[in-house]
Amino acid sequence: MAQIKSFLGVPIFTKEGALFGTLCAFDTHRFFSFTPEHVTLLQTFSTFLTYVIDLEDSKAKVERDLDRLTTKTQLVLQSITEGVIGIDLNGKITFCNPSAAALLGYSSEEIMDTMSIGQVSVHLSQRLEETIEDTSAFLLKNGGEIPVEFVCTPIYDKEFRIGAVLTFKDITERRKNEELALKSEKLALAGQLAAGIAHEIRNPLTAIKGFLTLIDSGSYDKRYTQIMSSEINRIELILTELLMLAKPQVVNYKRTDICLLLKEVISLLETQAIIKNVSIHHEVIENLWVYCEPNQIKQVFINLIKNALDALPKGGWIQIDNLVENHTVQITVTDNGVGIPPSTLKRLGQPFYTTKEKGTGLGLMVSNNIIANHDGKLVFDSRLNEGTTVKVTLPLYKDSKPNS
Ligand code: ADP
Ligand code: MG
Repeated sequence: MAQIKSFLGVPIFTKEGALFGTLCAFDTHRFFSFTPEHVTLLQTFSTFLTYVIDLEDSKAKVERDLDRLTTKTQLVLQSITEGVIGIDLNGKITFCNPSAAALLGYSSEEIMDTMSIGQVSVHLSQRLEETIEDTSAFLLKNGGEIPVEFVCTPIYDKEFRIGAVLTFKDITERRKNEELALKSEKLALAGQLAAGIAHEIRNPLTAIKGFLTLIDSGSYDKRYTQIMSSEINRIELILTELLMLAKPQVVNYKRTDICLLLKEVISLLETQAIIKNVSIHHEVIENLWVYCEPNQIKQVFINLIKNALDALPKGGWIQIDNLVENHTVQITVTDNGVGIPPSTLKRLGQPFYTTKEKGTGLGLMVSNNIIANHDGKLVFDSRLNEGTTVKVTLPLYKDSKPNS
């Protein structure tokens, strides 16, 4: 073993000032007296080492952090219930978490690096360049489908698009609940209606029965059959309006000129208006197209104009205007009739709510229903003794060209 003849040592400190070790210089040949220059040189090295140690330290720390982060990300991806799928530029699936595989009925191996996104959703595979948030149905391994809510976002490396990441969740349960809610709503309405119908029909039936008994007992008056006939008409009217709501009719949606439709409705009601000393004005805008079931929309305007006529026992006017705004057409039916008190305004549209002796209280309920089915709105504005405006908003037909 070599003999150390000369020795010089300087401490190495860490950046925080803790002793890290010693930096040594020695000679095994001769006894040597180190100069102050040697000491300074060694000290400089030592300081330099302090920096190297620090650098290595932070590098290790960054690596550790990165490792931890990756593990964490992995854990998150492994354990979340949402499906996560990575897609490359060719639409190939390069990554999928266990939930994604399970939801689609595959194993991770069956999907990753073998399947393309087109096998899950044809529709989505053509739109990987944009961020899409939507609901859709994804294809399962067994040939079935699941309803999903998904977000698909393109991924960029600097400015280059390198693929997309898709997250999705199964919304079968939610769909079921929605359907259930809709059904119970319909049932509630049916229940409400049934109670009302029984009441509404019992009255005329009682009258008819009474007159039948009278006729049976030998007394006859022409007025009896007249009343019976008008009571039967009333039952018929109620049933017709109800069927309008309840029966799934053959619906035939068409691109329809709404002003032309209004003209037809007005000509239908004009004689009644003249008899009641009511003038009807209609501002026509040509070629105002709406995608609708024309018979149903006619039914709505017949209801509204009839109501306006009923509100004008002493005569007056009805004004029908059209306005185009934000891809919708707004048709207003205004009358200068009796108006609606606030207490009544709240109850409009409730089945059988009527203030008329011979009313059915079904017109507005049916109208509301029809307009809602057309993605539209029906809004009342009224002042007592001044008049009423009903505003019907309907989506404009998409490809309508104003002057074609
Ligand atoms: P009905 O016409 O058979 O009474 P509707 O559902 O069509 O049933 O109307 C319900 C109620 O709304 C009417 O009885 C009336 O009180 C009120 N109403 C509707 N439109 C008007 C209007 N233009 N002016 C005044 N009241 C109206
Ligand atoms: Mg009515």
